[in-house]
Amino acid sequence: MSLKGKTALITGAGRGIGRAIALAFAKEGANIAAIYAGNAQAAQEVCQQAIQLGVQAKAYQCDVSSFDLAKQTVQAVQKDFGGIDILVNNAGITRDGLVYTMKEADFNAVLDTNLKGAFHFIKHCYPIFVKKRAGKIINISSVSGLMGNGGQANYAASKAGLIGLTKSVARELAGRGICCNAIAPGFIETDMTAAIDKEDNPLAGLIPLRRMGKPEEVAQLAVFLAGSGSDYITGEVIRVDGGLAM
Ligand code: NDP
Repeated sequence: MSLKGKTALITGAGRGIGRAIALAFAKEGANIAAIYAGNAQAAQEVCQQAIQLGVQAKAYQCDVSSFDLAKQTVQAVQKDFGGIDILVNNAGITRDGLVYTMKEADFNAVLDTNLKGAFHFIKHCYPIFVKKRAGKIINISSVSGLMGNGGQANYAASKAGLIGLTKSVARELAGRGICCNAIAPGFIETDMTAAIDKEDNPLAGLIPLRRMGKPEEVAQLAVFLAGSGSDYITGEVIRVDGGLAM
């Protein structure tokens, strides 16, 4: 068990990719602090499954876009688990539309959740990691942040911003033995992509492996980046996209 005894704080852990990461981490022995926004039942179910795998797990409601709520949540997790070793900034939303019609509120909501949310949790976990001179930060970006995507200017900007955040934090914290990396998934089968018309998606035919990915396939990389096997990797962005963005 590569993560035995570690505590992982995972945002958006109730569903999709975050859920798969939480359960993969629990299988590797990590205790799970599962952050959710509104879907308490899903987060509780993930915690129950994690507990059945023999680890501690607790769900916390927190809107990651709030600096103060993120701070309170990190403090609560620290108190309950006695420490935090791994941070996964996974919570994310889309508010797609062409720039021509995109409302300012939709641009702000996506940036506030996807990019500022990650900043908030990194900021509040920072002293915990620095004090221990150890820590693993994993930010879930997207191929949209690498390639851009028409109709997703807000989302792609937030995900590209996460890459800049990842590399900056990696440089800032490398001297303290803390690693910060990003994962850039392609099309993964979750609630987020359920609304996409897979037949009519112009990118679908461009995936060399000719299928969408599964949340578990993203989670396996997260396990590697959270464990000691990746101790010499920082500031990296790794795609899990079936070759889409190569
Ligand atoms: P889902 O829509 O399935 O799940 C999103 C998760 O984020 C939910 O758990 C949700 O909580 C949580 N969340 C949303 N807003 C907030 C908020 N303000 N505060 C706290 N939690 C919040 O998404 P995916 O699993 O598909 O995506 C996970 C991450 O992966 C996202 O960052 C996404 O951008 C990224 N990604 C996904 C891809 C895909 O194809 N699916 C491709 C590339 C990147 P709740 O359950 O309580 O609503």
